[in-house]
Amino acid sequence: NKILVLYRRDLRMMDHPALAAAAKDGRVICGYIKKQTLTSAHDFWTLRHVNQLKKDLNQEGLTLLMGEKSLIEQVKTWCTDYEIDAVYVNRSYLHDEITLEEELIAALKKINVDVHRFVGDVLSKPGSILTNKGEYYKVFTPFYKALRQSSILRPTPKPETYHGIKVKQGQFSVDEPAWFKKIVDKSPPGEQAAMMRLESFCEDYLSGYSHARDRPALEETSRLSVYLSIGAISPRIIYQRVMAENTLPAHVDEEKEAFIRQLMWRDFSYQQLYQHPKAETEAMRKEFDYFKWLNDEDAIDRWKKGQTGYPLIDAGMRELYETGYMHNRVRMVVASFLVKHLLVDWRIGLHYFSETLIDHDRQNNALGWQWVMGSGFDASPYFRIFNPITQAEKFDPDGSYIKRYVPELSKLEGRDLFRPFEAKVETLTKAGVTLGKDYPLPLVDHKKARQRALERYQDVKGK
Ligand code: FAD
Repeated sequence: NKILVLYRRDLRMMDHPALAAAAKDGRVICGYIKKQTLTSAHDFWTLRHVNQLKKDLNQEGLTLLMGEKSLIEQVKTWCTDYEIDAVYVNRSYLHDEITLEEELIAALKKINVDVHRFVGDVLSKPGSILTNKGEYYKVFTPFYKALRQSSILRPTPKPETYHGIKVKQGQFSVDEPAWFKKIVDKSPPGEQAAMMRLESFCEDYLSGYSHARDRPALEETSRLSVYLSIGAISPRIIYQRVMAENTLPAHVDEEKEAFIRQLMWRDFSYQQLYQHPKAETEAMRKEFDYFKWLNDEDAIDRWKKGQTGYPLIDAGMRELYETGYMHNRVRMVVASFLVKHLLVDWRIGLHYFSETLIDHDRQNNALGWQWVMGSGFDASPYFRIFNPITQAEKFDPDGSYIKRYVPELSKLEGRDLFRPFEAKVETLTKAGVTLGKDYPLPLVDHKKARQRALERYQDVKGK
């Protein structure tokens, strides 16, 4: 039996059900199809992993073919060229990709090639965790409790040997833009790097996770999202390692739970988008589709550039621009600022994140924006408008996160750092800051913007 394993967002060898089954069932060759145009940070990040995966597969005697055609054309060509009997693939839970999988199955049937699909990168299959009434959970906490009590999927063991189909492997190189080379220095690509990240997180930071997860300055969350987003590690491996008995001191139990709860938000997002295929483009609560957005171009531009005059927002947007990553707490605050303070359509923010985040994940990004907006089923209510000043005081109390990314304010302290627009002129002069020149005046007044956002909501409420 000759089997083609089709790689997509599962760029690893461990806990790879399709590869493991293929190794058992026959001789194996692997294939990856490159996106036609690469634009986003995540696109370039993905290709670094593909290159690393190719080396890892080669070491085990496996070939990775690189395709550039459309999915169906490319797979058909490979099947014909290498006389493939079956294609094995891990499932996607995004509807456009599911449709493509179904089209592939139909196209390959015509040339007598079977497609076998395996469980993708989730702790539970979307659709398997249901309420007593057999419905999808709409709210996270009961979903999480049910998932915790269910039998969470276990990692698939890695086969000991593979029988590879030997063919000439094409060259594959990508010209990475300079901006991209700059942002990913902190994160080496590949499955081994992902496993090392998991290990060092468990050893160094897991025991303090519940405190650190809200402190952007600490950089003590797992940062596994960058690896999960391309499948260099599976959530099942993370779950198993974190919950492993005896490897961590007992007092860490609550911390483990806090971390696992966060990891389960990912499964919740996957389940929600499986149920609401249009959640990337349409509000899940329909009234939000009637919202009148301002979409002021200058305001959008200043938000993107971290020039809003609110230090925490600016630090977050500059972190994103400079590193391709942003801390979760700050993602919530900058997103809220865009949709509520600036009245900009959430889809503009979602699109910008999809271009700039190296950990871009379609499900998590869509759910994140719907949550912030208040338009998801389990979401922060619309009237909960984050105050960008008090959020900074609470979660960056010594201002070190702000100072790291907004260095022009680094000589200000305390209240003056969090509210430079209220600082005395002498204090600003001493710190070398002229507002409107070195650092912008606020783009909007917090109180007025909050009031305006609440009024806009009244217009659509109940529609
Ligand atoms: P940790 O705190 O170490 O958490 C471990 C893992 O749990 C994460 O890697 C992630 O897989 C999962 N997780 C944690 N928090 C969430 C959450 N709120 N929702 C879903 N899964 C979560 N995450 C992405 O992976 N890609 C995105 O494109 C993305 N866009 C977002 C957009 C907005 C507006 C918001 C508010 C959140 C978004 N998130 C996204 C969720 C979250 O911010 C990141 O998963 C997290 O910051 C990643 O850092 P970490 O791996 O250190 O997280």
